Amino acid sequence: MGRARMTWIGTSWKMNKTLAEARAFADGLVAARGAFDGVTAFVIPAHTAIAAVRERLPPDVPVLIGAQNAHWAPAGAYTGEVSMGMVADAGATLVEIGHSERREHFGETDDTVALKVEAAVAAGLTPLLCVGEPGAVRAAGREIDWVAGQVTRGLSRLAAGDLHEVVVAYEPVWAIGERGREPVTYEIAPVMETLSTGFGVRAVLYGGSVNRRNAAALLDVPGIDGLFVGRAAWDVADFLALVRIAAAGRHVGRPDAR
Ligand code: PEP
Repeated sequence: MGRARMTWIGTSWKMNKTLAEARAFADGLVAARGAFDGVTAFVIPAHTAIAAVRERLPPDVPVLIGAQNAHWAPAGAYTGEVSMGMVADAGATLVEIGHSERREHFGETDDTVALKVEAAVAAGLTPLLCVGEPGAVRAAGREIDWVAGQVTRGLSRLAAGDLHEVVVAYEPVWAIGERGREPVTYEIAPVMETLSTGFGVRAVLYGGSVNRRNAAALLDVPGIDGLFVGRAAWDVADFLALVRIAAAGRHVGRPDAR
């Protein structure tokens, strides 16, 4: 019999929010500090706001902070980049790696993703490895192979004993952002089954057009350990609404150590 597990609810702010806006969001989390029972909540600000959010959250507010990207090298001549150690120093405990926007606009490849996953674990950070197929791949019925390949290559530099450090976010490209389409649960269930059984990672999240209406149904898809949310969680009240949906659900599955 499975036991109740933590449900992950997180948001990346992408290239949004001033310091004042980031602090106001953090203050909303502090005011709701009792809402997180049973939920592993995380927010991923822009690099400029990581430290401000960290400083605003007292230790009894159980919300993790992440970074949206970091370089694999520990230091050096990489103008405009920040290292894993630097984001950890600023207060991040997890780091998003391989989001489809970075793959599309910034030349992220499975090779650089693998280097970053390795560097994140070495720096004591939880890698949040983002994978997902474009619409054309889905239309051709090749999504499971595509996604499994991205995960296999993304994890390729880790020792077997480190796989449990990784959280995978399945984010089909056709479902993400303003032009995204909400998924039907049967469209994502087979991919979730593959990801949750095949790789030995710590948790598998779903992301792409999640909102208050579809969150409970998505959380009930077998293999889903939580949700990674963009637009529908950028307002703190909306984020907390999703946290409450997750906290209210009785999602039973793999045990998860926080
Ligand atoms: C994302 O871009 O990772 C994402 C989940 O976005 P949205 O929820 O806005 O579709």
